[in-house]
Amino acid sequence: MPTALDLIAQEAIYRAAYEANRRAAVAVPLDGLRAYERARDGESRPLARYVLAQMVDNFKLAVAEGRPMCGDTGLPRYYVKIGNEAAPEGGFVALERALRQAVAEVTHDIQLRANRVHPLTRRNPGNNVGVFAPSVDYSFEPDADWLEITAVHKGGLFGTDYRMLFPGDGIDGIKRFLLDNMAAFARRGLSCPPVTVGVGIGGAKDQCVRLSKEAACLRVQGDRHPDPTVAALEDELTELGNKTGFGAMGLGGDTTVLDVHAEIAYTHTGGTPVAISQFCHAYRRCTARLYPDGHAEYRGDPQWFTPYYRREGIS
Ligand code: SF4
Repeated sequence: MPTALDLIAQEAIYRAAYEANRRAAVAVPLDGLRAYERARDGESRPLARYVLAQMVDNFKLAVAEGRPMCGDTGLPRYYVKIGNEAAPEGGFVALERALRQAVAEVTHDIQLRANRVHPLTRRNPGNNVGVFAPSVDYSFEPDADWLEITAVHKGGLFGTDYRMLFPGDGIDGIKRFLLDNMAAFARRGLSCPPVTVGVGIGGAKDQCVRLSKEAACLRVQGDRHPDPTVAALEDELTELGNKTGFGAMGLGGDTTVLDVHAEIAYTHTGGTPVAISQFCHAYRRCTARLYPDGHAEYRGDPQWFTPYYRREGIS
């Protein structure tokens, strides 16, 4: 049993959840900022270059003024990684209460748009908290006494889609799906590119959708999957996405996709479920690692996909 000294205090959990959420809303993490700067510097079309330059300026202005970097809050969500030896004071019910409280307080304090409404009555509680809101996903880590809280503000209405492919569709089927997905959302004006694309391949339908979102939001720019087959696919899909030429904010340009991250899950022998999620140019996330002594470290890389999380064998 953990002693009182080992417990991670409720107040510290709340503060970390609040601060991760606030920072995520305001500051694009460094890997994203650098990727947008590279896209701006390498862009050949003047209009797209201008738009990318405005995006970078906007990112910096948001930090300077401590204000949200996009007027649309998207859907605030949390990813919590829990060390096997970690013990939050008050248990996981208290942890979830802290996460919900933090969303409400940050919404009020930095004037996030209150996006979350009842899906039928459209009742808006005004604080981004409601039934299953914010959503919270969990993973675990061996030999650790910390817990990590990652806040993501996932741009709202576009980019996620699902398709059941079959083994015979192969890599070409995944490529076709990516192009259809990008064209469909761009045509309807529901895309704010350049985007970071997550592709979830395999598992069951719900698993691949979840993996695609995590791949889009929780890996840094330029990161490659440890499986060389998957890594090669990530390179191919990134190149393909940029060949569409939609460009920054769909105005035509060289960079439509900053990066593609793919994740796999072992699946039914007869099928290949695939999901795609796009993380819009409001590239917002922040991770807090919280130790039992109450101190927190903040960083831009969630380190969500650990070797343990992607483990293949029994242990
Ligand atoms: S899609 Fe992203 S960039 Fe566009 S309005 Fe929504 S949050 Fe902002």
